[in-house]
Amino acid sequence: MKTYKHFINGAYVDPAKCEWLESENPYTGEVWAQVPRGTKEDVDRAVAAAKAAMTTGPFATMTASERGKMMRRLGDLVVEHGPRLAEIEVRDNGKLLAEMAGQLKYHPESWYYYAGLADKIEGSVVPIDKPGHLAFTTHEPIGVVGALTAWNSPLMFVAWKAAPAIAAGCSIVIKPSEFTSASALEFAALTVEAGFPPGVFNVVTGYGQEAGAALVEHPDVAKITFTGADTTGARIYSAAALQLKRVSLELGGKSPNIVFDDANLDAAAAGAVSGIFAATGQTCIAGSRLLVQNSIKEQFVEKLLGIAKSAKIGDPMEADTNIGPVTTPPQYEKIMDYIGVAQEGGATLLHGGKPATGPGVKGTRFVEPTIFTDVTNDMRIAQEEVFGPVLSIIGFDDEEEAIRIGNDVIYGLAAGVWTQNIGRAVRMSKALKAGTVWVNTYRAISYMMPFGGMKKSGIGRENGMEAVQEFLETKSVWINTSEEAPANPFVMR
Ligand code: NAD
Repeated sequence: MKTYKHFINGAYVDPAKCEWLESENPYTGEVWAQVPRGTKEDVDRAVAAAKAAMTTGPFATMTASERGKMMRRLGDLVVEHGPRLAEIEVRDNGKLLAEMAGQLKYHPESWYYYAGLADKIEGSVVPIDKPGHLAFTTHEPIGVVGALTAWNSPLMFVAWKAAPAIAAGCSIVIKPSEFTSASALEFAALTVEAGFPPGVFNVVTGYGQEAGAALVEHPDVAKITFTGADTTGARIYSAAALQLKRVSLELGGKSPNIVFDDANLDAAAAGAVSGIFAATGQTCIAGSRLLVQNSIKEQFVEKLLGIAKSAKIGDPMEADTNIGPVTTPPQYEKIMDYIGVAQEGGATLLHGGKPATGPGVKGTRFVEPTIFTDVTNDMRIAQEEVFGPVLSIIGFDDEEEAIRIGNDVIYGLAAGVWTQNIGRAVRMSKALKAGTVWVNTYRAISYMMPFGGMKKSGIGRENGMEAVQEFLETKSVWINTSEEAPANPFVMR
């Protein structure tokens, strides 16, 4: 069994209390590794290292171009070590190797993109209206960043949070999910090889209530960036508010995937499947509400069932597996509970609904791809995030009704629209209250494209040029170029 350590100040260190948590392989259910159960002492140590890196270490005086070069080297190392990291993630998280191999190929692009941005963070000279003054702005790193991440895409979150933060000149302490901490700890070693000065990138593992809360409450952490459930996000937001900390939150969703009768129905059916069964439905952007125009509902559902029934369930390491295990035991229980909730609420079970069995299935964490129809949007199954392979089909008659139902949830993370009508595509993308709207595609993500939620799906944006702003503060500098004293020092200049 592999034993991991925290990564603090450029080195692997034992947890202060010498306690560890077990990490299971979701496919086999076997414990394959242990990760430190971090406490306040470990967080204090990591934050002190991160603060020193920003104030006294070589990172503090490094030019932005040098920061960029160091980040590019890290990107190259991720390319080299990608296959190994992908396998670790699959073992720890249960995601398909096919998906992880793709994510790891893409991961370095975040480092390259923000490496390029590091030396383009420019202030401006303001043609100020006060005579005898030079006025300009600079954008300064916000300070030590504390990052808390969910278990569903651990290494992707490392890139999404650390790359823009470090490009901005911040140091970071990451607390990954207690269920899937191994990959971030493995990744950390690459930062040493890439020449990151000690303290710039730190990983402390452990429970949210212990290590996570200590990071949120630490007075030397200036900014919290969080990915996880909306309930946890709200708790963190209020804890951070007591110290007026900057916070960005990437939370859950109940995204509508809307199919009109003029759509390419084969493409839409594939898009519906990718929206809910990819990653075993354990994605924040899951298109868990499939809104289908009533005129084509029957025909469309047939197509959908055809794909869902052919999905291969089993070993996530095998290249042709489509649906892997649920990552954590509590999540498995939650999914099975929601299948009951849907039935009690009056939804009709069309497919699945049980623990999956079959030749490739091991352990106790497999759920059949599950489809409910006759769902109305007021049912709990249509309103609450399941975070699993459970789809609710809701019929609608026209555009107006699709918009009303689509927006009638507390979340606003993403939405899909399937139509061949360009005018409708534009109208729908404007009307849907979601941070991302996909037209005739779903689950397309890029380091270049801002990502984040409206309503209870979050605050702030990751990816794209905007993300770096989350880690910067604007400073306005006024320089009086005249030697004269003010005529009246008792009034505003
Ligand atoms: P979670 O909220 O339980 O945990 C997220 C992280 O917060 C973990 O590292 C956890 O240890 C930590 N944490 C928990 N309680 C804490 C506390 N009191 N103080 C500080 N840290 C604490 O979420 P999860 O179950 O790991 O992930 C699933 C959720 O994440 C879903 O709701 C999903 O939609 C959401 N998610 C959102 C996005 C996005 O980008 N919008 C992406 C992936 C997942």
